[in-house]
Amino acid sequence: MTDAEHILAKLAQAEFQISAPTLALCPPNIGHEVAFAGRSNAGKSSAINTLTRQRQLARASKTPGRTQLINFFQLDEERRLVDLPGYGYAKVPEQMKLEWQRHLAHYLRERYSLRGLILLMDIRHPLMPFDRNMLTWAQERQLPVHILLTKADKLNRGPATNALQEVRRGLTALGFEASIQLFSSVSRLGIEDAALQLARWLEMPLPSETSDEMPDTP
Ligand code: GDP
Repeated sequence: MTDAEHILAKLAQAEFQISAPTLALCPPNIGHEVAFAGRSNAGKSSAINTLTRQRQLARASKTPGRTQLINFFQLDEERRLVDLPGYGYAKVPEQMKLEWQRHLAHYLRERYSLRGLILLMDIRHPLMPFDRNMLTWAQERQLPVHILLTKADKLNRGPATNALQEVRRGLTALGFEASIQLFSSVSRLGIEDAALQLARWLEMPLPSETSDEMPDTP
């Protein structure tokens, strides 16, 4: 089994754990977790479902009443994936959006089991204000960010590569540091790279790291 296959098999064990409205109601702050954020329609649910090979997992986060919550998916006792609210198009009063933002910023600032942020941006609409907010919050607490440029299948290879370079330049111009890749839940482009990033942040033991550690033969 390759490392990527091993990781994807592990991610497939994800189970919905809990939806938390505030930091205080999140599961115990132990082990490692990786959060996914993106504007509504960025392809976040599709990416989570693809990476975990579960068609329905991120649907939990789309249930009315849960869209504004922090949703936790447990891989094992020590590792979690976290689906953060993306309130791009939500038709709610401004006051409520500010309230969600406050909880989100609080979670990002205080949650020390959070090891990295996967930021999903539609390849055709990158670096919108929501994305810049997330990058700013992450940078403020030195949280590493890995960007998935989603729906890459919507562009041909040339334009997709150009878009990737463009966003790289945009990040540099704005003073943000982040790794970045193309991703598509439809063509499955970039799934292995995304999985490897998750494994690093979640400190998953990998077959390639243990295979040469053969026990001494007597
Ligand atoms: P979310 O609001 O960020 O959770 O976005 P969804 O995962 O629900 O996706 C929003 C829309 O984009 C849906 O109609 C999906 O079918 C579509 N979509 C998501 N990922 C991809 C992708 O990789 N390629 C294409 N072509 N469409 C996608």
